[in-house]
Amino acid sequence: MEDKVLLDVQGLKTYFHTFKGVVKAVDNVSFSLKEGEILGIVGESGSGKSVTSFSILKLVEAPGVVNADHIMFEGKDLAKISERDMSKIRGKDISMVFQDPMTSLNPLYTIQRQMEEVLILHEPQMNKAQRRARCIELLHAVGIPNPEERLKEYPNQFSGGMRQRVIIAIALATNPKLLIADEPTTALDVTIQEQILKLMKKLVKEHNTSLMLITHDLGVIAEMADYVVVMYAGRVVEKGTASEIFKNPSHPYTIGLMRSKPVVGK
Ligand code: ADP
Ligand code: MG
Repeated sequence: MEDKVLLDVQGLKTYFHTFKGVVKAVDNVSFSLKEGEILGIVGESGSGKSVTSFSILKLVEAPGVVNADHIMFEGKDLAKISERDMSKIRGKDISMVFQDPMTSLNPLYTIQRQMEEVLILHEPQMNKAQRRARCIELLHAVGIPNPEERLKEYPNQFSGGMRQRVIIAIALATNPKLLIADEPTTALDVTIQEQILKLMKKLVKEHNTSLMLITHDLGVIAEMADYVVVMYAGRVVEKGTASEIFKNPSHPYTIGLMRSKPVVGK
């Protein structure tokens, strides 16, 4: 169980064919993620982290072209399946949390409606009362007080940190096997960031959910990741367990990253 591979990405190449030439945003990237593991993908801005996650989720649009030897997830090659099949996996078995809590929630709908949407889509067997109960349970799990009341509210009645908790609740609503979080706390201030990260770690470990955590911040990696992939200019320049990477970084880029940013407790 511990060692079962959930996601195996081999030879991922995502190129953007622009009028100025080909941008090799992701250039032959390979890594894998085990069940229940937190994989940290770290690299500076523009190194190809987000494009990597979009490629796995089939969210890359033209002029982007995705190629891979394979992207195996639970016995299926995501590189080869249709958009129709992917839409059954995306938001259910693989869910996502993105950086900006402002744009991820619709200001016009109540929290309840937005939470229920994903359940209606992916858990059609649930009735109205079961959905409501699940929403309350989820808000409770992410530490939102008075969930019964707060369900009726709109996103603008929530602080940034509370909105990100709601987004995490929505991402976990279907009990995904894999959660992809792309800079999930970058927009938040430091204390809130810390709370949200702790919460994410607790929830994924409790549910044996695998987490692919994308960040430019090595401090976040130190706090969260079991395994680390370091990206630079669209390539993987280093990978290993978090302790290997922190004890003995081998690539000059990783060493530079560590020098530029003191890591708490290291
Ligand atoms: P990161 O998430 O690590 O900051 P990204 O994955 O967003 O970086 O981007 C990697 C590279 O791909 C960047 O050079 C970026 O400019 C390029 N890129 C991303 N999207 C597009 C696009 N739609 N068209 C052209 N280039 C793109
Ligand atoms: Mg990004």
